[in-house]
Amino acid sequence: MTHLEEQLRADIVEAGRRMNARGYVASNDGNISVRLDDKRLLTTPKSVPKGFMTPDMMVIVSYEGEKLSGDREPSSELPMHLEVYRNRPDVNAVVHAHPPIATGFAVAGIPLTKAVLAEVITTLGSIPIAEYGTPSTAELPAAVRKYIKAHDGMLLANHGAVTCGKDVLSAYYKMETIEHFAKISFVARMLGNENLISKQEVERLQGLRGRYGIAAPAPLCADPGEGDLAGDAFCQVLEAPESATERLVPDVNTMLRQASRDGEIRLTYGELTALITDAVKNLRD
Ligand SMILES: [Zn+2]
Repeated sequence: MTHLEEQLRADIVEAGRRMNARGYVASNDGNISVRLDDKRLLTTPKSVPKGFMTPDMMVIVSYEGEKLSGDREPSSELPMHLEVYRNRPDVNAVVHAHPPIATGFAVAGIPLTKAVLAEVITTLGSIPIAEYGTPSTAELPAAVRKYIKAHDGMLLANHGAVTCGKDVLSAYYKMETIEHFAKISFVARMLGNENLISKQEVERLQGLRGRYGIAAPAPLCADPGEGDLAGDAFCQVLEAPESATERLVPDVNTMLRQASRDGEIRLTYGELTALITDAVKNLRD
């Protein structure tokens, strides 16, 4: 075994321990993979808790998902990893887990696409939700394909999250960033306010990426509709209001609340429908 392979096996064990320690996985959840060379990948085995792996348990597979060596079987989510490698020649490692707060956002259908934290803007940009696909089927790789060209991390609807990076630990750290971001977003939303970083400040922050040696996954979409087209996303949708003077601007919800204090009212779709139904009924009577 080469020194490189030994190191990569040790990196996967270490990332698995950290995932377990931070509660990002339960039971045998989650999987990690890394490029060994241009023909082979090293990946985590099926049915082993991620906190209790040893270097010898890893499985070597081809980029077609065929097992080449190892005593155990590769994870059933391997096709999702292969999809990431096929679409991202710059990426050397993939991490998948079910961190509870981020997964809560994925279940609620709320993407992490607001510009609120400088370090998230510089490292990941926006974190979309890939649509639901049955785990271990071809649906999941298909859902991931849409966003992977423009994003280093995404939520998986009603499932978890996936991240990629130049090595195992950098992919793992992006998983930490997503969960940390989800926690902070959750607290801010419970407190009832999120002040957003302005578009101008976002551009300034993204300009710093090069200085810190961080490769940008993709530019921001000029128009939010652009990232939502039927095909693959090539830009990132990030909610950042225009403001030439202020670096921090109130959240849209805050502005709506202020508007309602000035005499406007807000209704849910259900409330509006009930009002209209009632009005029509009164007309008939
Ligand atoms: Zn999973």
